[in-house]
Amino acid sequence: MTPGSIARSVAHDRRPPPAPTESARRYVNQWVEPEAIGSDRVPAFVLILRTRGCYWADAKGCSMCGYAKDTLGRSATPAELAEQLDRALARYHEEPYVKVYTSGSFLDDREVDPESRKALVESFSGRARRLLFETLPEFATAEALTPLKETFEGEIEVALGLESTDPLVLSRYIHKNAPPTEYLHAGDRVRALGLRAKAYLLLKPPYLSEGEAIDDVRRSVAEASSRFDALSINPVHIQNGTVVEWLFRRGRYRPPWLWSLVAALRDGASHRAAARLVSFPTAGGLARGPHNCGRCDATVLGAIEEASLSQEFGPLGDLDCACRARWEATLDFEPLGVEA
Ligand code: SF4
Ligand SMILES: [Zn+2]
Repeated sequence: MTPGSIARSVAHDRRPPPAPTESARRYVNQWVEPEAIGSDRVPAFVLILRTRGCYWADAKGCSMCGYAKDTLGRSATPAELAEQLDRALARYHEEPYVKVYTSGSFLDDREVDPESRKALVESFSGRARRLLFETLPEFATAEALTPLKETFEGEIEVALGLESTDPLVLSRYIHKNAPPTEYLHAGDRVRALGLRAKAYLLLKPPYLSEGEAIDDVRRSVAEASSRFDALSINPVHIQNGTVVEWLFRRGRYRPPWLWSLVAALRDGASHRAAARLVSFPTAGGLARGPHNCGRCDATVLGAIEEASLSQEFGPLGDLDCACRARWEATLDFEPLGVEA
């Protein structure tokens, strides 16, 4: 099988059949996590809405993305979205930072219709200081954003999954639908409207060696930092039904070392211009997530979180463990196909 045919077959397999109303009334997940707004440490209220999901996941999908399993297989009705929102608001305790995800694009009308979007933004207006939502770049238009800006009393942050500024990495390895320039231009449009723009960068897409992956993030931070207010480095974790999982199961992919994330953050800190640089890894320390040897993972993850919240990256240089030498050997020998 070629990577292209794997991508098409996993895209087909992971899309659920149209869901009954009962499941469409319930959001996918909700939790509270540590965050920061400037130098203020604040709790963030995170909500994953259940929608039809990302249209690109139907067509081909990105090689690391398994979010389609959390979608409805059809558009949610305004009434279903309103019920999801009501359930979420019952758990909202005035957290200053609110992040809303949809397993796709909040600004795609097929996922969240404009009226439901406005209702959600209105319900957090004057309560949250900052409201984040994620979207593909083509939906980040003045037409979609202006009514939300006018509705929300506070700061809106638009997150874009740029992943990499290398067009080849983005199209061939990650399988994104648009080139990096579209993400950069979307960031410009968002900021021109007076909103915050955030970009997610992917650490270690498939088919890159550990060292190439660090270089890819390093270059992406340097090239994107002047176009965004914040950059978040997301190390790959293995999601079900993805190309990355297909490779992982055959021993052809290892999630990134936490040492690679530390290196990317330390290097990125000196190339990030005025942008905030953060990383809050998913599945950190687990076999299917970014990990080291198992003994140092909790310490390294704690230091990464602290650096992300404080924006002080110096202490990352004090971390050490015996496994660091193995990681360094991997960087040296992996391009030669030699097992470290
Ligand atoms: S990563 Fe984003 S663009 Fe790619 S398939 Fe997943 S939701 Fe869609
Ligand atoms: Zn270790």
